[in-house]
Amino acid sequence: MRINKNIDTIRTSIDNRLAKLGRQEEEIILLAVTKTQTVDAIEAALKFGISHFGENKVQEAMRKLPLIQTPYEGFHFIGHLQSNKINQLLSLKPYLIHSVDSVYIAQKLHLALGRTNRFQDILIQVNISEEATKSGVSFSNAIQYVEEISRYSTLCIRGLMTIGKVGKPEASRPLFAQMKTLFDTIKKLDLPNVQMDYLSMGMSHDYLIALDEGANLLRIGSAIFGQRSYGERS
Ligand SMILES: *Cc1c(COP(=O)(O)O)cnc(C)c1O
Repeated sequence: MRINKNIDTIRTSIDNRLAKLGRQEEEIILLAVTKTQTVDAIEAALKFGISHFGENKVQEAMRKLPLIQTPYEGFHFIGHLQSNKINQLLSLKPYLIHSVDSVYIAQKLHLALGRTNRFQDILIQVNISEEATKSGVSFSNAIQYVEEISRYSTLCIRGLMTIGKVGKPEASRPLFAQMKTLFDTIKKLDLPNVQMDYLSMGMSHDYLIALDEGANLLRIGSAIFGQRSYGERS
């Protein structure tokens, strides 16, 4: 019940902000981040109209996805991807992989997809805050990475993903704005296998700021499910 109420609150705040921004015609994806959450909690969110959810660990997704009964539109992968987990991840048919952050991992994905004649939508993760602990290509080299990765014909680059500054929502505003500029710049390049549709940024503490700056895919965990407890397993 708390989950329903939280989703309602978030949707209302998104709608109000979009109206204020004059963006109410746009489709915004509210991605429920379900890492560490139980299958029951995921089911509750799906039953309350969430249709996209994201996990950050392949093992955890492998364990939980087969148990989910409620239909959904998209499972998203948002965590750091290791090459030895690629086949397992692809077996889960991800709607979008948000976290492609190297030419190496893109090439490994391309080879695995080629073997099964499949295509995959991806986002390029950009480390906009340049924090060493975060994954992502550097902001200054992002266009170069997009150009290189766009050579892999089984991959379609559908946009960019970034993580703002932890615990400092307003400090992320200029970074989110830079991401929007980069997004628009890449869009104009009109590269093959690149179709800039998604700007994935904004989490529980900064999603309204991300929305202000042009995000259209918000990744929200704790504001929906409550604080995560990493000790427990579902
Ligand atoms: C955990 C996580 C989120 C959601 O974080 P909250 O602060 O709980 O909303 C979003 N994006 C990524 C990549 C994450 O790992």
